Amino acid sequence: MSRDAADPRDPARSARCAHSGGERWTAGADGIRAAVPVGRLHAVAARDLIAGRAVCRAPVLLLDPAGWHWPDDGGPDRPLCWTCLRLTC
Ligand SMILES: [Zn+2]
Repeated sequence: MSRDAADPRDPARSARCAHSGGERWTAGADGIRAAVPVGRLHAVAARDLIAGRAVCRAPVLLLDPAGWHWPDDGGPDRPLCWTCLRLTC
């Protein structure tokens, strides 16, 4: 129980909505280690790209939009930020 109290179900499967196709947001991560995102994936709006802030206001490192899409790249290994999910649906 070292993680937060979020629902253990995969948010990418359970909270996806019809209009979150990834066109309005790009993806950011809590960190990047050896070119691999670590921590949660967050949504980043175009206006926040320069500041490096996610929709939930967390500081993030931007991921290459050619290879990463919000919210489709989440999963058990890369959990999606629940706050960003709520704010982008
Ligand atoms: Zn977030």
